[in-house]
Amino acid sequence: MTDRDDRPVFAAVVVAVSRVSAHMVRVVFGDVRSIDGTALAPPQAADEFFGLWVPGPDATPVKRYYTVRERHPEAGEIVVDLLLHGHGPATEWAARAAVGDAVSFDAPRGHYAPPRDATRVVLSGDATALPAIGRILDERARAQEPTPPVTVLVCVDDPADRQRLSVRSDDDVRWCRAEELVAETQRVAAHDPAAYVWFAGEAADMRAVRSTLRRELRIPTHRWMTMGYWRRDSERWAARFDAAGPDLRRAIDEVLATDLDEAVQTDRLEDLLAERGLL
Ligand SMILES: Cc1cc2nc3c(=O)[nH]c(=O)nc-3n(C[C@H](O)[C@H](O)[C@H](O)COP(=O)(O)OP(=O)(O)OC[C@H]3O[C@@H](n4cnc5c(N)ncnc54)[C@H](O)[C@@H]3O)c2cc1C
Repeated sequence: MTDRDDRPVFAAVVVAVSRVSAHMVRVVFGDVRSIDGTALAPPQAADEFFGLWVPGPDATPVKRYYTVRERHPEAGEIVVDLLLHGHGPATEWAARAAVGDAVSFDAPRGHYAPPRDATRVVLSGDATALPAIGRILDERARAQEPTPPVTVLVCVDDPADRQRLSVRSDDDVRWCRAEELVAETQRVAAHDPAAYVWFAGEAADMRAVRSTLRRELRIPTHRWMTMGYWRRDSERWAARFDAAGPDLRRAIDEVLATDLDEAVQTDRLEDLLAERGLL
């Protein structure tokens, strides 16, 4: 995903660390304060996320994106769930996170926006999507107005990473295998074109789901949101991206500078990457 903001604007301190499931660490940030005077705005969307700065190679801070699982404004606390997925600055930071650690992050923003006439909400993704899915369902449980039923499709590598979710009796929750996730999401979306589909997961999976929604089913863009939360073998991809040279970066910036609809911009960016074998 593109960097919208490349500096942290909030600082906090870790006040609690616990395990949500076998590979999911919950870290509570307390004493949240503004670095530059920017006020922490109220939540705009239930899948809100921020750029979190963690120590990278040589302790230089690097930014990784994480979902705000919970907010507790009265206590000045923010809760984040981080998957222990293998190697990488953020997962390594999460594995050793301890009370008293200093953290910094930028302003939360999100995309989840089901239209009022959605007949169903489909929440689909892998383990990295679980914090957002959990938050969306928690917020729905507190909503005053009637809300449509939800289909939850989640794949986790280890069954011990399944979580208890705030679901209703008319919801449908399916824990599927990684290789089933895309096809299941496509099937559910095709079955109910008046649903709102929210998908987050690996970049190639996201593109497959997006392609079905946008190009095959031609579902209007306000009825879905797809996000690539991580990229398989991202080091190799980053090296190939860098090797593509400044022309590609310039072409991407030109697309982002247009006032085209976000979905059309994404189509163009995908085309640019596909032309260079970077998809
Ligand atoms: C908007 C948004 C919200 C997100 N919310 C969350 C969240 O709440 N919780 C959460 O855990 N993640 C979340 N993610 C995903 C998280 O940002 C990525 O997994 C990130 O790459 C982790 O950084 P890292 O430093 O650990 O690994 P990186 O340095 O990015 O990657 C190191 C290696 O690990 C691989 N890798 C990265 N992520 C994964 C993964 N999930 N599974 C397997 N291999 C992986 C890469 O391909 C690479 O080979 C979110 C991403 C976005 C864009």
